[in-house]
Amino acid sequence: MGSKGPSNSLLYKNFEKHPAALVESGSGIFLNTSDGRQILDATSGAAVACLGYDNQEVQKAMINQMSNVSYCHPGFYKTKSAEDLADFLVESTYGHMSKAVLCGSGSEAVEVALKLAKTYFSSLATPEPERTRFITRTGAWHGATLGALTLGDFKGRKDPFVSLIPQTASRVSACSTYRGLRQGETEDEFVLRLAQELDDEFQRVGPNKVCAFVAETVGGSASGCALPVRGYFPAMHAVCKKYGALLILDEVMCGMGRTGTLHAWEQEDVIPDLQVVGKGLGAGYGTISSVLVNSWLVDSFQRSGKGFAHGQTYMSHPLAAAAGLKVQHIIQRDNLVERVREMGNYLEQRLKSTLLQHPFVGDIRGRGLFWCVEFVVNKETKEPFPTSLGLNGLLHARGMSKGYEIALFNANGTYDGYAGDHFLVCPPYIVSE
Ligand code: PLP
Repeated sequence: MGSKGPSNSLLYKNFEKHPAALVESGSGIFLNTSDGRQILDATSGAAVACLGYDNQEVQKAMINQMSNVSYCHPGFYKTKSAEDLADFLVESTYGHMSKAVLCGSGSEAVEVALKLAKTYFSSLATPEPERTRFITRTGAWHGATLGALTLGDFKGRKDPFVSLIPQTASRVSACSTYRGLRQGETEDEFVLRLAQELDDEFQRVGPNKVCAFVAETVGGSASGCALPVRGYFPAMHAVCKKYGALLILDEVMCGMGRTGTLHAWEQEDVIPDLQVVGKGLGAGYGTISSVLVNSWLVDSFQRSGKGFAHGQTYMSHPLAAAAGLKVQHIIQRDNLVERVREMGNYLEQRLKSTLLQHPFVGDIRGRGLFWCVEFVVNKETKEPFPTSLGLNGLLHARGMSKGYEIALFNANGTYDGYAGDHFLVCPPYIVSE
């Protein structure tokens, strides 16, 4: 089986047009391919591999877990690694969140968050079954499963499946200063305008029909690190509270230290009702994600005495949890979140000093080790490149005389969900200057 080496049996997107390199090994922040190339992964595989690719402590923790038990059914048994990871996550929120659900991917966790929001309203003493709608934002990306696609605005990935997607979400403008701030408008005025837009959307959809407003705390792959301006999330949360709806913050990409605090919301003067984390949680060693549930919501669930009607075979997976636990232990022990801030300052300065003057670079924005360089045809008009150019994919920049290549994740959709190009620079937390 497989003795002749890899064939062509796996169905991938686009690999006929753009053949992918065969990765044989990883070392530190590098991937090594079968054709002898060394690739510095400057995007951590899209904000995942924050500890690089061959952390031996994590490997050991996973081997230990496997030699104890590799799997048991999450509906009938507990394991120490899953319990400990949930404790770690809850404690990391300074007591604001009091329960964690552990899932296998960001998309699954987003689905769980939507279902928890729905469950909250149906478990109230006076249930609100008419709450079936969600409000999201332009340029959003929340995952590839059907419920998560409902929320997303990455049209290239969404349009082919529109007929399968529940039409339960509507959209307000993202907090994108580059594309959204009007001439002469202050950031405070921008926030007021966006909050009014959300308020109007609640009114349009029906004030008692919305379960939650869902947003990435810092925009990710589709919007290209769109940063909230000061006061934005408190204002949006106030509108949610006015209508009794929840605030769900999706930190699958921007969370777990990526933006310079463990949780991106820590910088926003807001505490979500439900929070979703993924990617950096297991750093690619374990396929693990989580939904953190605010303690007031947990209290409400507990008062109702009704359970959460959800179950998946690979929830709370002990091997993935052991990986996540060790990854988080290392991030804490080695002060890597601080390092993200320090290296982020350096990265910002280098990106801006070398690229901002380029005629096709419209904007450079980000926080921590989460940066985006947005390309435009024209700096004045901010016109995006035509989608026919097909810039989407992985960029391999030739590595500056060092003998390696640098991989950058190039995505599109910043402009209208189709057009607009940027590349993300989000290296592992262990990166050096
Ligand atoms: N939410 C956000 C903000 C993401 O960036 C992603 C993936 O890029 C997801 C959810 C989906 O996560 P996954 O690809 O692990 O299912």
